[in-house]
Amino acid sequence: MMRRLEEFLVGNVTFPLTSTLYNRRGILPTFRNLKKSEFYSPEQMSRMQRERLKNLVLYAYQWIPFYRKRFKDVGLVPEDIRTLKDLENIPAITRQEVIDYHHDMVDSRFLQQALGADVSGRATGAPIFMAPFRQDRLVRNTSSGSTGAPTTFYEDGSRTALNWAHELRLRSWFGLNPGAREGRMARISTDYLPGARDIRMRRRLWNQLVLPGVNLGPEDFQVCYEKLKEFKPRVLWGFTSALAGLAGFLREQNLDPGPVRPELIITWAAPLYEHEERTLREVFDCQVTNIYGAREVGHIAMRCPEKNFHVNEEHILIEQDRSSLDGSQAGELLVTTLDITVMPFLRYRMGDLGRLARKECACGRTLLQIEELLGRTGEIFRTRDGRMISPNFWCRTFMNPALSGRIVRFQVVYKKDDEIEVRIVRGDGYNEETRTGLEKFLSGNFGQQMKVYITPVDEILPQVSGKYQMVVNEASVATESTG
Ligand SMILES: [Zn+2]
Repeated sequence: MMRRLEEFLVGNVTFPLTSTLYNRRGILPTFRNLKKSEFYSPEQMSRMQRERLKNLVLYAYQWIPFYRKRFKDVGLVPEDIRTLKDLENIPAITRQEVIDYHHDMVDSRFLQQALGADVSGRATGAPIFMAPFRQDRLVRNTSSGSTGAPTTFYEDGSRTALNWAHELRLRSWFGLNPGAREGRMARISTDYLPGARDIRMRRRLWNQLVLPGVNLGPEDFQVCYEKLKEFKPRVLWGFTSALAGLAGFLREQNLDPGPVRPELIITWAAPLYEHEERTLREVFDCQVTNIYGAREVGHIAMRCPEKNFHVNEEHILIEQDRSSLDGSQAGELLVTTLDITVMPFLRYRMGDLGRLARKECACGRTLLQIEELLGRTGEIFRTRDGRMISPNFWCRTFMNPALSGRIVRFQVVYKKDDEIEVRIVRGDGYNEETRTGLEKFLSGNFGQQMKVYITPVDEILPQVSGKYQMVVNEASVATESTG
């Protein structure tokens, strides 16, 4: 009862109120609107999108030098964009363009503030504390992407507010109300200061326990475990790598997950591979979901209890690039942020391959679905005979009962279009039979034309972020640079 009351107060009073003070406005009203529009008919939704797109295009043309130039280059004026289909006449934006022209992509009335944010001394990737979001001040943010070259972008708090409204929507799909206790593994560990004012405040006013989420070692996981045991969150939110790492740690150390058993795990910032999801379900025995998005554009799609990815269509217009269609009918995803913000994105190349589908979902929501999210374009391997191998193929291979437990970790290196190296760290149960079994499976799958070989290694190290790179694509470095 006390807990219910606490949740209610946090969810309806202290969280929205303090957020508003720090320029993250309208979280609850947006959330309430989302709860209605998720059942809109496709016609209603597309009418709303058309209206928002019209306003966005007018705004971008008037105030953002980059888009005005882009429109002029292809001979368009805002009035030419009347339908969602017309949008295809605007060339898509690449990640490299954002790196090169980010100042031109900001509303020109806010350029001075953007330049001010550049020299504010916040390091790349450092967390944003609350204060900088005060009225009309821009914050510089960066997104590292999968290839390491950071893109710079600016926000005024509205994108963050929208992300939170979307997260409230996602929790509601799993029966959790605003204000439900949440453990959040997201901070960069070197910046994580347990006594920091910001962290204490989040705990008290937002029911949120902030924990480190990057570069985690055994001691960090132990700290997270102790704190979570005491805090007992109903939602556990974090980088996919951090949460999967925590689950693996509890299992290895034989620690009891009982006291930390949340009702819902939300993974973010990376695809949730099947083997990671299985570990999370097995260790925590709860529901697991995933948010697909990027820092620049926010939360794009979220997975419902029926395991379908629904696009946040009210604020995100998503397209499938027709020029990159292949045999599986998947294409690169392009995103347009429909809100008027200081730095909107029109047709931004996400570097991910997926397939969109308008179909019924047993959850009843009518939002567009990303039927298959195949992964980063750079992680997908095309064989000479035109087949596409997505990272999930390898997850499934190594989840095979004959292999799991015998191989501790694996990494696939695509050397050339006809050569694949599979690096493995052998576990206790590994023997000659495991090796011949794997070889047989691989040659059965790839045939004689493909050279596939297994290299046992002592260890496979994570990237700086803490994420294990499952697939290294040396065969198509050129396409990776767009991702
Ligand atoms: Zn659904």
